[in-house]
Amino acid sequence: MSFSVKTKDELARIEPGKSCCQKAELAALIKMDGTIHLSGHHQVGLQISTENAAIARRIFRMLKDLYDLQSEILVSRKARLKKNNSYLVRVGAGEKVRFILAELGMLDEKGRLFYGLKKELVKRECCRRAYLRGVFLGGGSVNNPEGTYHLEIITNNEQHAEDICCLINRYNLAAKISTRKNWQVIYLKESEHIISLLNLMGAHSALLSFENVRIYKDMRNQVNRLVNCETANLNKTVNAAVRQVDNIKFIASTIGLDKLTPSLREMAEIRLEYPDISLKELGEMLEPPVGKSGVNHRIRKLEIIADKIRRNEINF
Ligand SMILES: [Zn+2]
Repeated sequence: MSFSVKTKDELARIEPGKSCCQKAELAALIKMDGTIHLSGHHQVGLQISTENAAIARRIFRMLKDLYDLQSEILVSRKARLKKNNSYLVRVGAGEKVRFILAELGMLDEKGRLFYGLKKELVKRECCRRAYLRGVFLGGGSVNNPEGTYHLEIITNNEQHAEDICCLINRYNLAAKISTRKNWQVIYLKESEHIISLLNLMGAHSALLSFENVRIYKDMRNQVNRLVNCETANLNKTVNAAVRQVDNIKFIASTIGLDKLTPSLREMAEIRLEYPDISLKELGEMLEPPVGKSGVNHRIRKLEIIADKIRRNEINF
């Protein structure tokens, strides 16, 4: 089962709660997945389609609890293998349906289609969370955190997409909208923002498993960075030592090490003997011992001498 499906299953099993919140969630679900049917005598019917059985049952129950409205659930099995079943919650045409659709913000006061988010539905904090849960159940998905962090909600209703985006951004979650063919895609990319939204919607188990994977990934990245960093430093040290030995060998083969001052000569001889020890260790082997900066200074002098010989500024 994908992370997305698990999250939706969890959300669809949350106790429906207060009737204000139930209305908000149902309104969001209908706005996302509902279709209004006109029949003769100005009657309207409604059907809501979903691929998740738990969501279909939830819609059925909310219609019953809130409006004492009897709906029916139709299941259509997809002919092709691997395709999910789809569920249709159908409400027959009637005067009551028109009233419900107006209350849930699908129709305006004149009975025309209304595309945006009806503000009265999300006045309270509890209802805003319920509305977000509804839009996610209706058109949301979230990647498994093992991969790239991505949560999205898709709808073909441009006005509603903007309203959802605003609603999410009341919580400073940096939601953005992009267009995919005829769809509006509201998406979040940052792991902290996705976690916050899961929390707002009430997907606490999904949130915990997301957080666990994130912590594990962060640690793994940190270890990789440290290893890369150490490898880079080690390579730098090795390259520097190779260059030092090359310089000293070059001086020995041209002017000879005995032309150097005693302190430089001692340095050169020890470096040749121990090509792969650190500068600090080199310093400890000198008589008397010298600190790292002293060693560095002498190494630098040897390099200057080698360069001068190469440029014929020192004759031999
Ligand atoms: Zn509420």
